Amino acid sequence: MPWTGQKREERIPIRDILRMFREWSKARAGDEKNKTEVIPHGSQPCGAKTRAGTHCKNWGMPKNGRCRMHGGKSTGPRTPEGLERIRKANWKHGRYSKEERESRDRIRFLRLCLRVFGTGL
Ligand SMILES: [Zn+2]
Repeated sequence: MPWTGQKREERIPIRDILRMFREWSKARAGDEKNKTEVIPHGSQPCGAKTRAGTHCKNWGMPKNGRCRMHGGKSTGPRTPEGLERIRKANWKHGRYSKEERESRDRIRFLRLCLRVFGTGL
């Protein structure tokens, strides 16, 4: 049962509720209107081809015009310093680095030589 626990005099009259709703919806409509006038980020939509085959309708970033899901935020480092930094960030122990692999190959080759030619080499 609605309004239980409320005293009769605490109830808000329905006409006041309707008036509040009208004011609220008017204010909200105004907000929506303002929202469409203020264009976020870039000045045009992303426009990337979506999987559905349509154009992406998100607003693009100012830098390259694409949205956050289509390369607008970042597409990774481009400068040599940036590429080197990301390489270092992913470095674990160097076991599979070029130097380590070459070193292992040399040892393997020497062992093979010893096995084939013996110690009399
Ligand atoms: Zn997009």
